[in-house]
Amino acid sequence: MELKDIKGIGEQAQRKLNSLNIYTVNDLLEHYPYRYNFINIVNIHDVKDNENCMIIAKVIESGKVQYIKRNFNRLTFNATSDNVILNVTIFNRAFLKPNLKVGQDILLIGKYDKLKNKFIASDIKFNNLENKIESVYHLVDGLTNNSLIKMIDNALKSNEYIDYIPKYYSDKYHFIDKLTALKKIHNPGSIDDIKKASVRLKYEELFTFMFKINYLKRLNSKALGIKRNVTELSKREFIQALPFELTIDQLKGVDDIYNDLTNSCRMNRLILGDVGSGKTIVATFAIYLNSICGYQSALMAPTEVLAEQHYKNLKDLLAKFNIKVALLTGSIKKSEKKNILDDLENGEINLIIGTHALISDDVKFNNLGLVVTDEQHRFGVGQRNTLSDKGITPDVLYLSATPIPRTYALTIYGDLDLSIIRTKPKGRKDIITVVKKESEIKDVLYKMLEELKLNHQIYVVSPLILDNEELDLKSVLALEEKLRLAFNNQVPIGVLHGKLKNKEKEEIMNKFKCGEIKILISTTVIEVGIDVPSSTMMVIYNAERFGLATLHQLRGRVGRNDVQSYCYLISNKDIERLKVLEESNDGFYISEKDFQMRGQGDLFGVKQSGDMSFKIANLKDDYQILLQTKEDSEEYIKNKGYEDSKIYQDIIEKITFIN
Ligand code: ADP
Ligand code: MG
Repeated sequence: MELKDIKGIGEQAQRKLNSLNIYTVNDLLEHYPYRYNFINIVNIHDVKDNENCMIIAKVIESGKVQYIKRNFNRLTFNATSDNVILNVTIFNRAFLKPNLKVGQDILLIGKYDKLKNKFIASDIKFNNLENKIESVYHLVDGLTNNSLIKMIDNALKSNEYIDYIPKYYSDKYHFIDKLTALKKIHNPGSIDDIKKASVRLKYEELFTFMFKINYLKRLNSKALGIKRNVTELSKREFIQALPFELTIDQLKGVDDIYNDLTNSCRMNRLILGDVGSGKTIVATFAIYLNSICGYQSALMAPTEVLAEQHYKNLKDLLAKFNIKVALLTGSIKKSEKKNILDDLENGEINLIIGTHALISDDVKFNNLGLVVTDEQHRFGVGQRNTLSDKGITPDVLYLSATPIPRTYALTIYGDLDLSIIRTKPKGRKDIITVVKKESEIKDVLYKMLEELKLNHQIYVVSPLILDNEELDLKSVLALEEKLRLAFNNQVPIGVLHGKLKNKEKEEIMNKFKCGEIKILISTTVIEVGIDVPSSTMMVIYNAERFGLATLHQLRGRVGRNDVQSYCYLISNKDIERLKVLEESNDGFYISEKDFQMRGQGDLFGVKQSGDMSFKIANLKDDYQILLQTKEDSEEYIKNKGYEDSKIYQDIIEKITFIN
């Protein structure tokens, strides 16, 4: 059954749902409420003056509509509630007029002005008029919460859902069945319902996640790879050719890779370390070793910008070893692309750097022996064409700049071997971080001025506060205005926000890169891989809205050269937590703190991305469930339960990891 087969979903609604990343009935069922409204109906006599409330009333006179301006109208009518006659007003709901039938019971939500006996309603409901819990969903323009509730309700009738928990475990933990859980999570009658449903759905989500990881681990442990014949001498040659001394952790990483590549097991390794900790150079060692043994390498980056940066950085270094490097991105000319593809196929090119485009059909290798994937998620669904199909059994290396505590890493990267880079390269200056209250904004402006005078550039991040694009945009533009005034219109300022087209965003970014724009205000997290070395200051408004790990990653955008860099966190709340960032520049320490300080904070960024984008589970709060599912899914695999399960055979089919 497809989305459009659900009652109430037409073509337009389908497009709206798509923009929420909902493409299938199952996606719709898994579009869980992000919060609940607890609706408590009160008696009109108990309502205080001008208090928000919900009351039951009866319509006693049909409504009148006044059109005040374009896009602005007022609907008024009279109703009674426990013998009080109310004059009800609601704005911009002229369309409700036909529903207001005399004698009908309605639920009024809004404020009651006792003196004037006026009720200003923010919403009116016509059915289900009882105390209840209302689900609140993430929405897009033109899709109301109510219409989404109806769609999900209809989708629930379709029986289009899959229960992924093997029977043995749902019996063991006495879980409620899947359909009941879905019904309760979307339409709970009590808090207990929400708890029962969510624990079951979380377990299910984490079980399938850990199943994939453990299944991969099993595959990997058996996989034979390329055994390269080189000696320690080649390792020394590489290290000596570098313009700097490797840190202890980098040396350890080089050793790990040397061992992996020279034994017959296939390498499947993750290098974990802060931005700037020097992961790339360790990965370059793998590329070097692979190349001198006569194999080709591929380096995949998540964006074109990053791919270009890698190309620029690696080309010269690798030229010393006679390693030929090519860049393949969407912006390369057709004729040039053809040459590159030819040279790749005939083995002229030793290392190809590019985006995901590297896995497309027309890219053919001569003898691919190593795939390095930078900041990329590992499971691609429906991506039949994997890079590993293009090689024999290439070794695989992943790089991640999201430092997480080791215990976590062992679970969610359970299928990979880990090399952790914690020590920083010598001479690297820590970013000086200062937490400031809003009332101390003058200090921040003063510091900004100082940096601007040195011809340095500044990032200003203003996180989205409301779930309302229009208002958010307004507040960012207001901030821009403030800064313009503060610097007497003398400083060029650029603003990046969600309403801009990609091309406009690019233009602003380029202006910032070349220094034409000095202050860049951004509403969202600045894209990974933005590297503007002359930016030395980052100001983050409402810093309390971010997790520590995210703030740490954000400030990693500055401190890109040997000039001292600064990060100012502006917040009136949560100072204690934010002070962790004043204390430390160590991403692993910070993520551990973030984890310990329950309450606020997010381990993996504002938006969990890639593999870690769970719909209901949260790795931090549900760590115990994660550990349980790790154990259970290992047991399930050991007992080969999945072999008779069509559902799990389908999951296995879809694990196409990009290597
Ligand atoms: P990452 O990939 O972890 O973000 P990079 O490998 O890009 O970090 O390193 C950041 C910068 O530091 C690069 O310019 C790199 O040449 C340099 N670098 C790496 N390791 C060292 C080191 N041990 N000593 C000095 N500079 C280093
Ligand atoms: Mg090996």
